[in-house]
Amino acid sequence: MTFAIIVHGGAGAVAPQSLDARKQGCRAAAEAGHVILKRGGNALDAVEAAAVVLENNPLFNAGKGSTLNCEGRVETDAAVMDGATLRAGAVAAVSGIRNPIRLARKVMEASPHILLAGAGAARFAREQGIELCDPAELVVPAQQQHWQREHGTVGAVALDAHGHLAAATSTGGIFNKLPGRVGDTPLIGCGTYADGCAAVSCTGKGEDIIRVTLARHAAWLLEQGVEAGAAAEQAMRHFAKRTHSQAGIILVDRGGHVGYAHNTPNMPICGLTPEGRLLWEA
Ligand code: ASP
Repeated sequence: MTFAIIVHGGAGAVAPQSLDARKQGCRAAAEAGHVILKRGGNALDAVEAAAVVLENNPLFNAGKGSTLNCEGRVETDAAVMDGATLRAGAVAAVSGIRNPIRLARKVMEASPHILLAGAGAARFAREQGIELCDPAELVVPAQQQHWQREHGTVGAVALDAHGHLAAATSTGGIFNKLPGRVGDTPLIGCGTYADGCAAVSCTGKGEDIIRVTLARHAAWLLEQGVEAGAAAEQAMRHFAKRTHSQAGIILVDRGGHVGYAHNTPNMPICGLTPEGRLLWEA
């Protein structure tokens, strides 16, 4: 049985001088997931581990380094989905959580719900022993200076050696958003989706991704037998045609074939095949 993982570091405009560091960050994340898959671990653990690496890296708009809302505060969204069981967990507009992806997984595993938001999600985090932090700790100087105004969400999708697929996406959302704004990331079928055929993670303008339920659309294409690379391209064409907006997508199918596409100038990605073969793009 084969396995595969691909991660993205967001499809937005970034300073050219940070591109290489972002590529390295994506590689470190893909490797963290790859190690788990290689020893027979499950896809959910792999995508969570990859997302945590990216959340901890201040170059990305997730966890530490998240973009600021119009009040200068960080509010994060995150989701995980287990394709084998269709179980999912997500959090929206949460503050003071170091690794929102871990909280999303807790929602999936320790609550009867799929999506918890705001103060209720933070309370659940405290009850579940999820690591909290001072919200100010997630604010990095680059964000304060508004160097990076747009996207930079992170995501990971994987197929494990047992044939199970999983997806994880985590974000600080979009710059200058209203407090309480929730994007596509924690909405199942929009920014994040996994089932028996596909695992998908999206990045880009959340409001527009939601309009076309982009992740589910791509999964449906794979279900119809479209090849992974073509499915990513087709999903992006559909998105661009319907919304005239910008986004990016990564996906993996049940055969371990990965695909990615974006209509932004760049989207750092890193995919690792079972042989450890690298594929990436600035
Ligand atoms: N999709 C995210 C959102 O709208 C932003 C991003 O991908 O950078 O919240």
